[in-house]
Amino acid sequence: MTQKYYSIAVLPGDGIGPEVMSAATEVLNGLQSRIGRRFEFNVYPAGAQHYLDSGDALPEATLDACKAADAILFGSMGLPHVRAKDGTEIIPQLDIRFALDLYAGVRPIRSFAGLKGPLADPRAAQIDLVLVRENTEGLFFARNRGHMEGHGDAEAAIDPMKITRGGTARICDFALNLARQRKARGKPGHVTSVDKANVFLSMAFWRKVFEERASAFPDLSKDSAYVDAVALNLVMRPWTFDVLVTENMFGDILSDLIAAFAGGMGMAPSADIGDKYALFQPAHGTAPDIAGKGIANPSAMILSAVMMLDWLAEKHSDTALADGARAIETSMERVFAQGVVRPHEFGGNSGTAEIMRAVAEGL
Ligand code: ATP
Repeated sequence: MTQKYYSIAVLPGDGIGPEVMSAATEVLNGLQSRIGRRFEFNVYPAGAQHYLDSGDALPEATLDACKAADAILFGSMGLPHVRAKDGTEIIPQLDIRFALDLYAGVRPIRSFAGLKGPLADPRAAQIDLVLVRENTEGLFFARNRGHMEGHGDAEAAIDPMKITRGGTARICDFALNLARQRKARGKPGHVTSVDKANVFLSMAFWRKVFEERASAFPDLSKDSAYVDAVALNLVMRPWTFDVLVTENMFGDILSDLIAAFAGGMGMAPSADIGDKYALFQPAHGTAPDIAGKGIANPSAMILSAVMMLDWLAEKHSDTALADGARAIETSMERVFAQGVVRPHEFGGNSGTAEIMRAVAEGL
C-alpha cells in the first residue's frame, strides 16, 4: 500500500544551513496538498555551534533519529573558528556517511535558462549530467592509514588505495540504475566509468568490474575513459555527458569541477545514498561570509529536496512524490527563465525568502 506520510529528519547545522533549510521545508510544505502527501519535519541538533554548546558535534540521539526517519535533509555544518580538541574541523557529515554506509555520492549539475554559467559556448545551456562518486574506499581508504618510510633524505609518505569487487560493483550498479531512470525521463542513458586503468592495477580492476556489471544493462550505452581525458572533455564539451561513475578521489575533484558549470555554489545539490538510508544536502558549505544576511541562494537545498522526493518515490513506489519533484523543478526553471527572481550570486538582488516564495507560488 502506498505510504501517505513521510517523516524527515532535518539537520539545519551552521551558517547559512538553517536559512536555506527553512526555504526548502517551506517549498515542501507548499507541495503537500498538491500531491496528497504529508511530510513531518523533525529538527535535530548537530554541527559546530552544537559542539560549542554541548561538546558533541553529532549526538547519538540525532544519529538514531536519522536512522528512524524515512530520509534526512541536511543543511551545512562547520564554522571556521570551531575546531575539535585535536585541531580537526567539525564535519559530522563524514561521520554520518560512514555510520549509515552512504556509499554513493551523487552530484547532479544542470544549466538553468536565465542563469549564465562560466562557459561561453551556447551548448552550455544543454548541460545536464550526474557524477556518482564512490564514497567509502579508493584513495580515501588511506585516511588514517598512511605511513612514513625511510630516514632523512630517503623519507617518503605512502598512502594506499583500495578498490574492492563489492565496493566497485555496488557503486557501478547504482550509476547504471540511475542512468536507466534518467533514460525513462528522456535523458541519453549513457554511463561513463572514469578510471586510470592504463597505470594502476587497482584501476584496471575497477574497469573490469564496471564492464562486468554494465553487461547486465543492454538498454544503456557505456564507455570507460581515463580521468585525465575526462577532465579535458568535461571542460571542452560537458553537454555530451550523462552519468559518470568514479573512484572516491577522482570523484572528489571532478565533482568540484562540474559544480562550476552551474555558475554558483547555490545551484549545486547533492545526495549521499546507501542501500537503506539517504541524506540530501547542498554541495556548498556554511558560507560564513553571507550568513545572517538573508541573501543565500536556497536553490541547491531545494534541488537536494527534489532529489529526496525522487529517492523516496523510487523506494516506496510512490509516483506522487516523483510528480512533486518535477513540479518543483519546473517551477524553479520558470522563475529563473522569466527573470522573476535572480540570486545575489548571479548579480541579482533576490534574497533567500524571495526565491523560496517564487518557487513555492509557482507550484
Ligand atoms: P566548506 O569548506 O564548508 O565547503 P567554504 O567556505 O570553502 O566552506 P562555502 O561555504 O561553500 O565554501 O562558500 C564558498 C563561497 O560560495 C562563499 O563565498 C560563499 O558565500 C558562497 N556560497 C556558498 N553557498 C552559497 C549560497 N547558497 N548562496 C550564495 N553564495 C554561496
